[in-house]
Amino acid sequence: MGSRVVVVGGGIAGIQAALDLGDMGFEVHLVEKTPSIGGHMAQLDKTFPTNDCSMCILSPKMIMCADHPNITLHTYSELEGVEGDFPKFKVKIREKARYIDVSKCTGCGDCIAKCPVKVPNEFEEELNQRKAIYLPFPQAVPRKVTIDASNCRMITNKKCGVCKKVCKAGAVDFDQKDKVIELDAAAVIIATGYEMMDVSTLPQFGYGICKDVVTSMQFERILCASGPTGGHLTRPSDDAEPKTVAFIQCVGSRDTKTHPYCSSVCCMYATKEAILAAEHCPGIKSTIFYMDMRAVGKGFQEFVIRAKKSHGVRYVHSRPAKLQPGKDGNGVLVTYEKWGDKGETVAEEYDMAVLCPALEPRSNLGISEKLDMKLDSDGFFLTPEMRHPTDSTKKGIVVCGFACSPMDIPDSVTQASSVAARVAELIAGGEC
Ligand SMILES: Cc1cc2nc3c(=O)[nH]c(=O)nc-3n(C[C@H](O)[C@H](O)[C@H](O)COP(=O)(O)OP(=O)(O)OC[C@H]3O[C@@H](n4cnc5c(N)ncnc54)[C@H](O)[C@@H]3O)c2cc1C
Ligand code: SF4
Ligand code: SF4
Repeated sequence: MGSRVVVVGGGIAGIQAALDLGDMGFEVHLVEKTPSIGGHMAQLDKTFPTNDCSMCILSPKMIMCADHPNITLHTYSELEGVEGDFPKFKVKIREKARYIDVSKCTGCGDCIAKCPVKVPNEFEEELNQRKAIYLPFPQAVPRKVTIDASNCRMITNKKCGVCKKVCKAGAVDFDQKDKVIELDAAAVIIATGYEMMDVSTLPQFGYGICKDVVTSMQFERILCASGPTGGHLTRPSDDAEPKTVAFIQCVGSRDTKTHPYCSSVCCMYATKEAILAAEHCPGIKSTIFYMDMRAVGKGFQEFVIRAKKSHGVRYVHSRPAKLQPGKDGNGVLVTYEKWGDKGETVAEEYDMAVLCPALEPRSNLGISEKLDMKLDSDGFFLTPEMRHPTDSTKKGIVVCGFACSPMDIPDSVTQASSVAARVAELIAGGEC
C-alpha cells in the first residue's frame, strides 16, 4: 500500500494536515489553486478570542510546509480528477502556467515595479490594485511572482514584455503552458474552505449602493497594518476616521431564501473587529446587530463581555431591514425593528457599516462531481459516519476545515490533525 497522500486546499486546515502527515513520514502533495498557500487566515489581522496576530501564527507554518522534506507544494494548481479507489487512487493535478520559471525567480519585485497594468487586488478585497505580474501578499509562500494571463498585455495583445526586459534572473517565460501531472496516492484530503457570498445579491443591505458599507473581510484588511490603508481605520467615502460603526450579523446566513445554516464564526469575528476598532480609534462607538449571539467556544463568552465592558460595544438584538446612504450621501442609515412586543421601527445613522455575509463552500460542488462524493443540502461534504466524522462518502477521501462544516481556526486545526491521524490509520490497515 502506498504512503503518498494528496491534500487539496492550502488554507490553515490543509497546511496542518500536510504538516502532521509529513512529520509522520508520509509523502504529501499539497495542491492550492491560488499562487500562495495560506487561505483566508492570511487575510486576517488578529484572531479571536486572544487577538493574536494571524500572520504570526500562520507564517511559520507556511514556511515549514515549503521547507518540509516530505511535502511538495503545487501552488496555482487545481485538481483535474481522481480515478480509482482506496488505496490506489490516480490523482491528476493541473499546474497552471505562471509564465515564470520558479526555479529562477528570486521574488525581487523589479518586474512588479515596472508593469504598467493595474487591476483590482483580490487579496485586499479590491480595496486597492495590484499589477498584472504580482506577488499575492508580502509573506506569500512560495515567494514567486505570477503573471495574470487575462490582464497581461503581452499575453493578450503581444505588446509590452517590460517584465521580461527588467528581470535580471531571466525568469519570465511567455511560452510556458499548463502542465497536467498524475500521481498515485493512497488517500486524499479535501480542505478547500469557503468563499464569502456575493452580498450585492441582497440589495437591502446596501453593498455597492452605500459607499460606506463594506464586508467584514474588507474591514479586516482595513484594520491590518499591511492592508490598503496601512492599518488606519478610515471609511471608503472620504477617508475620514469613523466615530460610529454598525456591524450587521447573519447577512444571508440563517436565511431560508439563501443560506439556511449558521456560518458559525461571524458573532465572534464581529466582536473581535469591534474591539480592534476601539483599539485603533479610542472612543469609537460600535453597535453589533445580531439575531442570536453564538459564543460557544472556549473563552468566547468572556470575549463578548470584555467587548461590552472594556470597549463599550453595544449589542442590539435585531435584524436590520434596510441600509441606505446617510443624509449627506456618506455614512449609512440603518433601519431596524426593536426586539419585543411593540416592534417599534428605529432608524440610526452610522459613519460606516460592516456586513457579515454567509460563508459558502463554493469549491465543494466541482470537487464532489470530480471525486464522486456526496454533499449535504447546504453544500458541505456529507460525513455520514458518526464513528469517523471526517470520512466522506468515498472511502479513503476525508475532509477537514470549513469545507466539512462552518468552523473557526482552532477547530479547523484540530480537525486537520484528526484527518491526518485517520489517514494514517486507514493506510496502516487499521479499523475502517
Ligand atoms: C471576516 C472573517 C474573519 C475571521 N476571523 C477569524 C478569527 O479571528 N478567528 C478564527 O478562528 N476564525 C476566523 N475566521 C474563520 C477562518 O477564516 C476559518 O475558520 C479558516 O480560514 C478555515 O480554514 P480552511 O483552511 O478550512 O479554509 P480557507 O481558509 O478558506 O482555505 C481553503 C484553501 O483552499 C483553496 N482552495 C479552494 N478550492 C480549491 C480547489 N478546488 N483546489 C485547490 N485549492 C482550493 C483556497 O484557495 C484556500 O487557500 C474569520 C472568517 C472571516 C470571514
Ligand atoms: S520574475 Fe524576475 S524581476 Fe520578477 S520577481 Fe522574479 S526575479 Fe524578480
Ligand atoms: S508583459 Fe504583462 S506582466 Fe509583464 S510588464 Fe507587461 S503587462 Fe505586466
